[in-house]
Order: sequence, then C-alpha cells, then structure tokens
Amino acid sequence: MKTRRVAILGSTGSIGSQTLEVVASQPSLSVCALAAGNNWRLLAEQARQFRPEAVAVASPESAEAIRSAAGAGDVPHILSGPDAMTELIHRTHPDVVLSGVVGTSGLAPTLAAIECGATLAIANKETLVMAGAIVMPAAHAAGVPVLPVDSEHSAIFQCLLAGRREQVRRIVITASGGALRDWPGEKVEKATVADALKHPTWSMGRKITIDSATLINKALEVVEAHWLFDMPAEQIDVVLHGESIVHSFVEYCDGSAIAQMGKPSMTTPISYALSWPERFERQVAPLDLATAGKLTFSALSDRFERAVRLGHAAIARGGAAGAVLNAANEAAVEAFLAGRIRFGRIVEMVETVLNQTPPVTEVTLEALLRADSWARTQVQELI
Ligand code: MG
Repeated sequence: MKTRRVAILGSTGSIGSQTLEVVASQPSLSVCALAAGNNWRLLAEQARQFRPEAVAVASPESAEAIRSAAGAGDVPHILSGPDAMTELIHRTHPDVVLSGVVGTSGLAPTLAAIECGATLAIANKETLVMAGAIVMPAAHAAGVPVLPVDSEHSAIFQCLLAGRREQVRRIVITASGGALRDWPGEKVEKATVADALKHPTWSMGRKITIDSATLINKALEVVEAHWLFDMPAEQIDVVLHGESIVHSFVEYCDGSAIAQMGKPSMTTPISYALSWPERFERQVAPLDLATAGKLTFSALSDRFERAVRLGHAAIARGGAAGAVLNAANEAAVEAFLAGRIRFGRIVEMVETVLNQTPPVTEVTLEALLRADSWARTQVQELI
C-alpha cells in the first residue's frame, strides 16, 4: 500500500491515541506531526515513539516543559500558541490530517489542511456542524477528499458505495442512547456528571459522552451527515440501537437497506479513513453475531426526539444555525461539567438559543465566528 504521512490533531485524546494504535500496526503509515492541548507528558512520550518532524501544544509553558524534559537532540520542532496547529500543517505538509480535537478549535487547522491539499479524516464533527457550508465547498474546490471518522458517518460513507446518490431514499443513523438511556424522566433531570459519563458501549472523551447522554450528539451527527453527504434533513433519520453493532444504514429506492456492522471500536473507522480507498489487514477478533444473539432497535423517546430534532431544525434554519447549535451546546456542556447547571437544562438551553438564532446575510467565516460567540454569551445569560 502507498505510504502516507499522517498528522494527528488531538493526539493525546481518545481518538488520537487510537489513531496512533492503528499507525503503529501499519508499516505504510508514518507520523509527521502531532498536536495536543496541554498534556505535554503524553505528547512527549508519543513523540519519542513515533518521531514526528514537529509537534504543537497549546501553551508556551507546555512547549518549554517538553524541551526541558527531553534529552538534547531528542526533540522535534515544537510549536505553541493559538495558531500552532495551523503552522504545524503548513510546516509538515502531511498526506492525511486526522482531526480528533474537540470543539471549534478544529476549524482553522481543517481549513489549513485543505489549503495544503491533504486528505481530511474528520473525527471533529463540531467543525462540520459549525462551518460545513465553508469547509465542504473549499474541500471540493481543492479536490481534497473528506473522510468521516465518526463511526456512523464512516458506516454511511461505506453504505453509499452500494448505489447512486439519486437512488438513496434515506439514511438512518443509529444511536446507543448513552448512559441514561433507560432512566425515567424525573431522574434524568438530576443526573450527575458521573452518571452521564457512564457510557454503556463506547469509551470516548468527556464532551462527546455527555453529548451521547443528552442525544445532542445525534443532532450534531444529523447536521454532520447533511454536509458530508449533501443530504436534506428530511432524508436523515435516527433510530435507537443499544448494542452499537449496526453503525448506521442506507435505504435505497427499491427498499434495499445496506448496513455497516462492526464491534464498537473507533479503530475500525480510523483504519478505514487512513487506508481509503484500500483497506488495511488488521488483527481483530471477528464480529460474532451468534454470541451477540440479538440486535435490538426502537424509536426515539420524546426526550431523545426533542434533542435530535435540534439537528433538523438547524439545517432548516440554515445560515449560522449550525454554529449556534454547536456553540450553545459546548457552552451548556461545559457549564454542566463544572456543576453550574442541572443535566436537564442542557437540551432546554440549546433549544432556546437555537430558536433565537440571528439571521446572517452571507455565510462567511467571520459571520459564523460571531454567531458562535453570540450563542456562548446567550448560554451564560440563561445560566
Ligand atoms: Mg458518532
């Protein structure tokens, strides 16, 4: 297989570490760049093992810490500061940029990757939710492939290979239901951070685990699917599937539904994004459906429906609504994690702010960034 130099943004997070696992097992992949927030110890360890040309960290203090901890000659080029990830990409010119950062900080480096002509492997759904209207046309214009790493979207991407775009009747995203799936409504209202972080099937970062418990993760994924696959809101559905084995499916005009299945492990979609259009040979235990016994599906409860519909509403509103949905949610989740609001208020607040989205005359990066900070302010006022 053709060799590829990979840049990993968010290398110390859940997606980043699993990407490094995949890279370590594939001789055709090498790491040219790593970027992390402030977990400099782990970053330094990763740099020692994977020998990137350069690394990026959030603060100059973290950069200094890496320098002083490492022996002379053992340190790659170190960048820090708010533009470090963007500089990192311009400096190393990767073949593939895998973006596993959380939240809107992924936007600028994503645009930098497109400028450099690197293939985009996107786990950072927030970037697409906020700025899909800018990212996707820019990627198309540059001829840059955008490969989803989100498990549902990786599934849809693969299922769409079974037919032509105009033959698709709808796509159906599966949802595990998160940590509080079977809780009664009154109890959910008061769920603690620890409760909401106990995900039944997936092991992921904190923000996305909370998003899974509110089901806003699916609202974001509806918008993400809209941009990735150029699919109107009314052709995107969500169904509950507790086992997380069917990662999503696509229904065609003749009634045929093509699903993608696999164990709930992010290394599978990561591997696919890094090998596409080929597939890597990997040492994984086979999917044993006989042992799984049965796969269950059910319609969304009212609480879940309310959260998921925020995605459809954001698409229908257009303009800066995606940016508002994403930013209001980020702010509300932060407030919940900090113990400032009850769990039950997250969806309520996001809905309130989304409904007041100010109109924009033209969807520019500046307009989206303005909408983003407007939404965060609105959430603070509601708190
Ligand atoms: Mg997902």
